[in-house]
Amino acid sequence: MSNSTLVHPDIVKVLLSEEALLARIRELGAQITRDYAGRKLLVVGVLKGSLIVMADLLRAIGPGVDVHVDFVAVSSYAGAASTGTVRILLDLRESPEGRDVLIVEDIVDTGLTLTALTETLRAHKPASIEVCTLLDKTDCRQTPFSPKYTGFKIPNEFVVGFGLDYEERYRQLPYIGILRVS
Ligand code: 5GP
Repeated sequence: MSNSTLVHPDIVKVLLSEEALLARIRELGAQITRDYAGRKLLVVGVLKGSLIVMADLLRAIGPGVDVHVDFVAVSSYAGAASTGTVRILLDLRESPEGRDVLIVEDIVDTGLTLTALTETLRAHKPASIEVCTLLDKTDCRQTPFSPKYTGFKIPNEFVVGFGLDYEERYRQLPYIGILRVS
């Protein structure tokens, strides 16, 4: 076992292995390739949590889609508790006007972040706007939001790894794990 695959002592349980994550991301990439065949697509990663899924998803989208990449950063959480407010910390550099836009997120929980973000981007009049999320805690919704592309539906546990953090830690773990609550 290499150092990167050793399970971190703060992880109670590995929920999704790296193999399972990569296999599902490849399926999502194939679906996106079919859906946007012959079109231009602005793929917008929501920093920082989407950084790893973005890297894998982009490589799973075939050459038949003309992909451009951009990022936004939003802030909605302090530690593990939702504040229910969204602040745009970093805005798009590419204009979404008239473009097909795909927002890539690590996890949807209450749905407040993506509801606010899609509304903000819709104001710039994109041709279309869809969301791809790696993880979805459907039990936690506070607003009726459903992403078009979902990797995995997961239970209401606080998870880290594969880009997801707790107070900026654990992003490098190659799997999704449930964090020990001490
Ligand atoms: P929402 O607005 O849907 O409640 O929150 C989405 C954001 O909350 C995600 O982008 C992520 O930053 C954070 N979040 C929600 N659940 C979890 C979780 O289980 N683990 C981590 N690390 N972040 C979470």
